[in-house]
Amino acid sequence: MYCPKCKAEFTPGISRCPECQVALVDKLLPDPELEFVEFVSVFKTSNPALIQIIKSVLEDAGIIYAIKGQGLQSIMAIGVVQFQVPQEMADTTRELLQDLVNEEEAEIIL
Ligand SMILES: [Zn+2]
Repeated sequence: MYCPKCKAEFTPGISRCPECQVALVDKLLPDPELEFVEFVSVFKTSNPALIQIIKSVLEDAGIIYAIKGQGLQSIMAIGVVQFQVPQEMADTTRELLQDLVNEEEAEIIL
C-alpha cells in the first residue's frame, strides 16, 4: 500500500497515511509529465534579469519548463542556467526566445 501524496510504502492492513491523512492506494500512478516527456535544453544565460523575463515568456505561452543550474544562480547570482522544455516544444520555444538572444549573456541551444 502506498500513500499517493508522500509516496511512502506501508505494510498491508494500514489504510491511511499517518503523515498526510489520506487513504492509501494499491499502486502509485506514474506521473505522466515526468514519465513520458523528454526535456531538452533550448536556452542558456547567466543574466538573472533575463531569467525572469524568460520565465514569464514561457509561462505566458503555456510552455512547461525546467531550469538547470538555478540553485547556484539563486544563491550566488552567478553561473549559467539552462532552460529545458519538452522535446516537442523545443522548436517553438527557440523561436519564441530568438528575440532575446541579442542580450550579451544569452544563447539559444540547438
Ligand atoms: Zn503520506
